Amino acid sequence: MKMRSMYINGKWVPAESGETRTILDPFNQETIALAAEGNEVDAQAAIHAAREAFDQGDWSCTPAPEREKRILKIAELIERDQQELAELETLDTGKTLTESLADMADIAEVFRYYGGLADKDGGEVIESPIPESRSKVVREPVGVCGQITPWNYPLLQAAWKLAPALAAGNTLIIKPSEITPLTTVKVTELIEEAGIPAGVVNLVLGSGASTGQKLAESSQVDLISFTGGIETGRKVMTAATANFKKIALELGGKNPNIVFEDADFETALDQAMNAVFFHAGQVCSAGARLLVQDSLHDDFVKALIERTKRIKLGNGFNESTQSGPLISERHREKVENYVRIGIEEGANLRIGGKRPEAEELQAGFFFEPTIFTECTSGMRIVQEETFGPLLTIERFSTEDEAVQLANDTIYGLAGAVWTKDSRKAERMASQLRMGTVWINDFHPYFAQAPWGGYKSSGIGRELGKQGLEEYTEVKHVFENTAPAPLHWFK
Ligand code: NAD
Repeated sequence: MKMRSMYINGKWVPAESGETRTILDPFNQETIALAAEGNEVDAQAAIHAAREAFDQGDWSCTPAPEREKRILKIAELIERDQQELAELETLDTGKTLTESLADMADIAEVFRYYGGLADKDGGEVIESPIPESRSKVVREPVGVCGQITPWNYPLLQAAWKLAPALAAGNTLIIKPSEITPLTTVKVTELIEEAGIPAGVVNLVLGSGASTGQKLAESSQVDLISFTGGIETGRKVMTAATANFKKIALELGGKNPNIVFEDADFETALDQAMNAVFFHAGQVCSAGARLLVQDSLHDDFVKALIERTKRIKLGNGFNESTQSGPLISERHREKVENYVRIGIEEGANLRIGGKRPEAEELQAGFFFEPTIFTECTSGMRIVQEETFGPLLTIERFSTEDEAVQLANDTIYGLAGAVWTKDSRKAERMASQLRMGTVWINDFHPYFAQAPWGGYKSSGIGRELGKQGLEEYTEVKHVFENTAPAPLHWFK
């Protein structure tokens, strides 16, 4: 079995301790790989390599057109190896191969987009109010970046960090989730093949508490970009105060999907399914909170339950599979616990809520698509991110009530509004406190548009030009064109 190593200062290395971790296929719990299990020592070696590479200007001083060329090369190599990358992602996460292939196309696009921006920012001349002077504002790389990613979209989340950090001229250390490292290892091989200099991109593997924590607290790291859960985000933010490093946090969501009575019934229904059950609900922007207008509620719920009965769970490699397993036993227990909580809170469990009985699903971490009705916003199942195939349904009667319910959450990542009335949609969009609002759609995102959360869903943005700006410092350069003594201190 191929051993997955770390990549530090241009060399593939095992963990200094010699430890390894077994990587499991969530579909059948079979061992699919062994990975080096790094710790603080390995993280420190990677930080040191990135620091040296940055301080020597190995990448930041590479002319921008050359940086662009190498980043575009990475995009090309991802496209060349997309089938292998997609298969690794499906093996590691259980998601369907169709979805993994779509992820790979998006990932190549992200590298292409940021590659294209690498030589576009020549700075901005500003008008100085001081006579005989010149002023300009330039953007420079932040320095050494620590990047920590989750297991639900392993390579997609990595791409959203790697591509802009490289385009801006930074050096970095990336740490994927310890349970899904395979595609990040593979893409690091492609980064090496694309000719990115040694020390610029470093890969450490291992647990969050050791390697991740080290990246967050090290005073040699200038920026930490984290995607993951809210509690881990809190730890990362606290650790980052050691040297007041820049932080970018992409955290969870509990995203409302609001259906008005004048919505196109069939489309809203189809997309409500997609919103919550895609990738077994393990999506930060999952539409896990459905708000349905009173007059539509009963018909909509009835149709939704009928459709949910038909969802085909299975092996992500089978074409007929619509949804794979959850990522781990621990995560399945978390979702099961939320079902118990929902029942105790008085919500009405209408379908699912348990492990499937089919023989062929017993070895995997499967959980049935689950719907609760009669939910109210005070319930924990409505407020907390369950990150599984669990939908809560609430009713509303007026537009104001829909806004109030939708915003009644600590999160603010994304949400959707379904109506044929475009003015109502615009009014709703302007009142929803979240980083993305979809009108008559759910889930679309692309490299050109910023992604991120209001409130406790995070700090900063990924994607778009804002995602590049996160990886830059802003410098004002002022020049006195007629220098003369001031004679203040005579
Ligand atoms: P997690 O917080 O458990 O882990 C995320 C990463 O943090 C992993 O690499 C982990 O090893 C590392 N980590 C753990 N403890 C750490 C510590 N003390 N210091 C530093 N790093 C540490 O999250 P997860 O379960 O892997 O992912 C699911 C979460 O990610 C969900 O909450 C989801 O909403 C969120 N997410 C958000 C977005 C977004 O764009 N906002 C995208 C994907 C996932």
